[in-house]
Amino acid sequence: MTQTSIIKPQWILTVNDSFDLLTGHALIIEDDEIQAIIPTAELGSRPDLEQSELVELPNHVLMPGMVNTHTHAAMSLMRGIADDIPLMDWLNEHIWPAESRWVDRQFIEDGVALAAAEMIRHGTTCFNDMYFFPDVMAQTCQRMGIRASAGLIVLDFPTIWAQNADEYLSKAMALIDELRELPLVTPVLAPHAPYTVSDQPLQKIAMYSSELDLPVHMHVHETQHEVDEAVKNTGQRPLERLDQLGLLNPNLIAVHMTQLQEMEIERLAETGVHVAHCPESNLKLASGFCPVDQLQQQDINVCLGTDGAASNNDLDMFGEMRTAALLGKGLAGNASSCNAEQSIRMATINGARALGLAERIGSLEVGKKADMIAVDFSQLNTQPVYDPVAQLVYATNSLQVSHVWIDGKSKLQDYDLTDIDAVEIITRAQQWQQKLQENQ
Ligand SMILES: [Zn+2]
Repeated sequence: MTQTSIIKPQWILTVNDSFDLLTGHALIIEDDEIQAIIPTAELGSRPDLEQSELVELPNHVLMPGMVNTHTHAAMSLMRGIADDIPLMDWLNEHIWPAESRWVDRQFIEDGVALAAAEMIRHGTTCFNDMYFFPDVMAQTCQRMGIRASAGLIVLDFPTIWAQNADEYLSKAMALIDELRELPLVTPVLAPHAPYTVSDQPLQKIAMYSSELDLPVHMHVHETQHEVDEAVKNTGQRPLERLDQLGLLNPNLIAVHMTQLQEMEIERLAETGVHVAHCPESNLKLASGFCPVDQLQQQDINVCLGTDGAASNNDLDMFGEMRTAALLGKGLAGNASSCNAEQSIRMATINGARALGLAERIGSLEVGKKADMIAVDFSQLNTQPVYDPVAQLVYATNSLQVSHVWIDGKSKLQDYDLTDIDAVEIITRAQQWQQKLQENQ
């Protein structure tokens, strides 16, 4: 038996190529897919829909779910553990010691559950992760019903997940088929950063990526310090090295990119690299500024990520989108750059494109998966509504997300999570906090 639902919002923001904003239309979900988008006047002539569930959303805009292209989901258990310090001190003195002591399969399961529940509640339907135990992460996402790209992490140094680059790589290869069995999960190769992965494993990653057509998810040019150290030690900027190793191509999702020279931007455009911009993490760690306006002028695909909750400190893509829009304008010295449409694209379809999922998600179009959210504009901060698109970027709080569907399944209905026990997830997070604090 197929299941159909009719969603009747005030507006449908399709985020299709022509960025159509529809009124007087209904969207029909059949099982996991968008079956039709039709004028509400035509609903009467569709007897096949008589048994459908009807969802009336009179003050709402229906839009694609947010795609968060850079996270370390399990790190939500370390939200607030160390703040107000620069990246390398934060990593060396706080995050890496805490990780080596505490991270295990249960930590990942509980941390990912906290992150996934937060993301669904705030309108994110798909995210791209990089962390240890990607198998546990993937199973947890499948169980909770959120779409995810599971980053198969690679480093040179030992952690609880593997001892050396070869072992990280062999674990990654062994997991690819297992992850592909999970309908909501896609595998992604995730070398941590140029300064933590040496040439040989990076060459192998470039080879596997092209043979298996897998995205490569990597922190690149996050800080000036990273670039300076690389130049000092090798005489090369990291991006140039990645280019020589064969990694600059449309499979690469380069995260952060706060240090970019004109020629590097041209090279990114030529090679079709995607840039995952994480404005709040970059601001909080004072890492620098990604030149989004310049990238967009070269038609480079820029998408958005929150980074982990330990460096943001939330996983709120509405907040991220607004910060990206404001920062982009400020940095470019131009109020017209990073406009509302571009910002919504960065948060949705551009992310889907970077993850290789644009055929399935990222916009509301017939045949795509029903990954979508409704935003309720009836509250004080979003009235009156001249322009729903501007309202979403500049005025909306993510707590106004009232409904979420992922793969056609209702995950949030009238502000309530339908099948996720938030109380249990919070209890477990508090138990981890106690453990981490008592043994610091
Ligand atoms: Zn990161």
